[in-house]
Amino acid sequence: MKILVLPGDGIGPEVCHEAVHTLKALAQARGLSIEFQEDLAGGAAIDAYNDPMPDEVIEKAKAADGILLGAVGGHKWDHLAGAMRPESGLLKIRKELGVFANLRPVAVSAALADASPLRPEAIAGTDMLVVRELTGGIYFGEPRGRSGEPGNEEAFSTMRYSTGEIERVARVAFEWARRRGGRVCSVDKANVLVVSQLWRDVVTQLQAREYSDVELSHMYVDNAAMQLVVRPSQFDVILTGNLFGDILSDAAATLGGSLGLLPSASVGGKVGLFEPVHGSAPDIAGQGIANPVAMLLSAAMMMDELDKPIIATAIRAGVETALNEGLRTADLHREGTTTKVGTAEMAARIRAAALDSLN
Ligand code: NAD
Repeated sequence: MKILVLPGDGIGPEVCHEAVHTLKALAQARGLSIEFQEDLAGGAAIDAYNDPMPDEVIEKAKAADGILLGAVGGHKWDHLAGAMRPESGLLKIRKELGVFANLRPVAVSAALADASPLRPEAIAGTDMLVVRELTGGIYFGEPRGRSGEPGNEEAFSTMRYSTGEIERVARVAFEWARRRGGRVCSVDKANVLVVSQLWRDVVTQLQAREYSDVELSHMYVDNAAMQLVVRPSQFDVILTGNLFGDILSDAAATLGGSLGLLPSASVGGKVGLFEPVHGSAPDIAGQGIANPVAMLLSAAMMMDELDKPIIATAIRAGVETALNEGLRTADLHREGTTTKVGTAEMAARIRAAALDSLN
């Protein structure tokens, strides 16, 4: 198994290091051979190659089985524009890999219920997966434009989806539902948008044709936004388009109490990209205090995708044990109730507990 590691900038290298260390330990314990290759991305690649995502890195990515990415960006590169920005390197690699489905699981561990902005009883039992279409919809739709004179301008973007684009991402959601709670809630705005009416028709037909074992419901996006903060535990898999998914997945991300907990995967091409939801956190970079959990759970998603669920489950068990023991990095620590640890100490406990769970 070949993994390309792109640590990136800021806390990216700190948390990536822990993920690689953990994967190596678990792979060794299972007699599994994983080859890690590392390269630069984002600001680090701009400094070295004058390009946030050089073509050679893309080639290595395409030849790998999975890609672990830390985070990119930072103040040093904030003055750069367009294709030279660290974040444009991310867009490039997603596009080149053809990863059309973004997966964001949000599970709130019982140990962290008090860290959520919602009341513990409102958040209890939350365990959802947001499947967002990533390469179509209004962010890419043509025509788009802006015309007219200042003071009398007009601008427009187009939300378009084809049957094929809807089917392929819906399939990802249905497949995941089969591995989870067996329920998909498709979110759209079919009461107003024609494009959502097609979305709803295609999802309904696909379910009837191929996934009748999965329970399908539909929800308007305005209601979904409300339900996410009123009763998030009702959701299993949420399937939605690019724009609605962008907004809803960020709202869902706040439920857990820290960005440092949330993993993501972008899949659908030959190779998947696995990265934490958080950015490079320049405000805490280099201090050894970043929460490694999001990165470790991203590595677990990669192991699931590469059909190594035993390793994925062990990582998740390790995280649960460390949290249950009261270990917290600074983002989640509460004076008097939890034990404050740094990145390395948190990851070491997770690793040890993950190894224990294998035995
Ligand atoms: P951010 O996610 O980096 O940080 C937001 C806040 O959350 C900060 O206070 C940070 O300290 C905290 N935080 C984030 N991850 C944490 C972790 N693992 N442990 C503890 N605390 C954590 O978002 P931002 O500050 O808006 O952006 C910083 C830089 O990251 C920018 O250059 C931005 O463009 C970039 N960015 C990159 C990605 C990516 O690589 N996918 C995503 C978002 C932002």
